[in-house]
Amino acid sequence: MTTLIPVLGDQLSLGLSSLRGANPGDAVVLMMEVADETTYVRHHKTKLAYILSAMRHHAQALEEAGWRVDYLRLNDPENSGSFTGEVARAIQRHDTERILVTEAGEWRVTAMLDSWETLFGVPVEIRKDTRFVCSHGEFDTWASDRRELTMEFFYREMRRKTGLLMDDGKPAGGRWNFDKDNRKPAQADLLMPRPLGFTPDAITRDVIAMVEDRFSDHPGDLDSFNYAVTAADAERQAASFFANALPQFGDYEDAMLTGERFLWHSILSPYINSGLLDPLDLCRRAEAEYRKGRAPLNSVEGYIRQIIGWREYMRGIYWREGPGYVDRNFLEHDRALPDWYWTGDTQMHCLSETIGQTLATAHAHHIQRLMVTGNFALLIGADPKQVHLWYLEIYLDAYEWVELPNTLGMSQFGDGGLLGSKPYVSSGAYINRMSDYCGTCRYNVKERIGEDACPFNALYWNFLARHRDKLGANYRLAMPYRTWDRQSKADQQATLEQAAAFLRQLDGDCGAPYAKRE
Ligand SMILES: Cc1cc2nc3c(=O)[nH]c(=O)nc-3n(C[C@H](O)[C@H](O)[C@H](O)COP(=O)(O)OP(=O)(O)OC[C@H]3O[C@@H](n4cnc5c(N)ncnc54)[C@H](O)[C@@H]3O)c2cc1C
Ligand code: SF4
Repeated sequence: MTTLIPVLGDQLSLGLSSLRGANPGDAVVLMMEVADETTYVRHHKTKLAYILSAMRHHAQALEEAGWRVDYLRLNDPENSGSFTGEVARAIQRHDTERILVTEAGEWRVTAMLDSWETLFGVPVEIRKDTRFVCSHGEFDTWASDRRELTMEFFYREMRRKTGLLMDDGKPAGGRWNFDKDNRKPAQADLLMPRPLGFTPDAITRDVIAMVEDRFSDHPGDLDSFNYAVTAADAERQAASFFANALPQFGDYEDAMLTGERFLWHSILSPYINSGLLDPLDLCRRAEAEYRKGRAPLNSVEGYIRQIIGWREYMRGIYWREGPGYVDRNFLEHDRALPDWYWTGDTQMHCLSETIGQTLATAHAHHIQRLMVTGNFALLIGADPKQVHLWYLEIYLDAYEWVELPNTLGMSQFGDGGLLGSKPYVSSGAYINRMSDYCGTCRYNVKERIGEDACPFNALYWNFLARHRDKLGANYRLAMPYRTWDRQSKADQQATLEQAAAFLRQLDGDCGAPYAKRE
């Protein structure tokens, strides 16, 4: 009799909870490439190639570690196309006594796992995912007696729990948060570190050919695919980040530069989220860099906060808010994203740059996602669910538990402020301060009215005016509303007309990708 251990595509860790204590002698690890998972959104080709190749390499690593692996390929003619269908077939093949599985990362797959015991009549043990610092129960306990779920306070709990950057119960350096030091614009720098590139091996080349063939209508291209697909190579990228980029990570965390896709960021989120790297281990190593005097505190604290703070907090919100979170639309936005979110073909340089690099690499950094593509989508009143689907399909690190709260909550204010105390909107001035994009843009960032005016400017005021009933009492927006009120009626009218004309023009551009996908 066999214990069947299904390992999903984002569970590529040898230390996975479902493997612990199981006996390789009477267990079979089941890994499944299934059509449902590759097409529930039109994933970027790079994302598909990455996950499928990483899965195939992980199957080898499991075998080397002594596990018997039953691996089902996408092109197998018998492939039923779903996890449930493949587990059903595997139960027959392996005389299955019980199923042991680590909890899934999203509601959709959780529902499948929950149905298996009744469906198959074998015991199913669903184990906690121990790759996270905070369990669902702990997050609920933290959240349950609070009126506001402020990330900063959650983060401090995680610092206390892990002991990271703590000195005798107090935060290292006397402060919990050094974010104020982390908002410097960057200059072009020939010595800027670059993430390592990994030449595709035979397995990856095979997968790339299959993806090109089978998913030719998905966005993105694979010409320069060079991501790591094994734990060993992901580890090489981590070591390179700590040695070369971590010291400046904090200073330039929010900066954007034309032609510079990665700056001092770690480019590790795809590997962490799929299981090749352990987030807590990375945080401990970052702390060691600080303790040894090799990286400053503002960088190390900033890095650790993103992982044990924001990342864990997003997961907590996703599970706490339930499957209905995806339908929240506090601002009642309903515009479709313009077609050029899938081509980058716009004269707004900040957007063409961010979307262009996203199509090429399936990556953009946090501020590009939040203050360029996200900001623009929010200002034009795009449907938050559609915006969520765009992020889910286009980024290499996008899994619903982390992408949805970041997009629908933080970026689109769809939850009405559960996750952020005010909407992340700005005029062109913020983008100009944090990047060099405006210098070579067809639009003038200093202008609000006229053909050459930066569209973000009128759209920003239009957004505030349009949502005064819902946002007017927000104390964090008191200053911009006062500035708006000080403008003459004629100026206000001209701004609203400028925004309306831009939106009319934009609407001529909208629709096709959604029409195709729905
Ligand atoms: C609209 C929007 C959508 C996003 N979607 C995703 C997503 O699908 N998957 C994802 O992993 N991140 C997402 N993020 C967060 C962030 O943009 C990425 O984690 C980051 O850009 C990954 O690149 P990096 O590894 O170089 O990160 P770095 O800048 O080097 O940061 C270090 C690490 O911190 C973690 N991190 C940083 N910010 C966040 C955050 N807000 N939430 C969760 N983890 C964070 C990541 O694990 C990251 O590797 C999103 C942000 C926004 C604004
Ligand atoms: S001028 Fe406006 S549209 Fe152009 S890059 Fe700057 S912010 Fe973007």
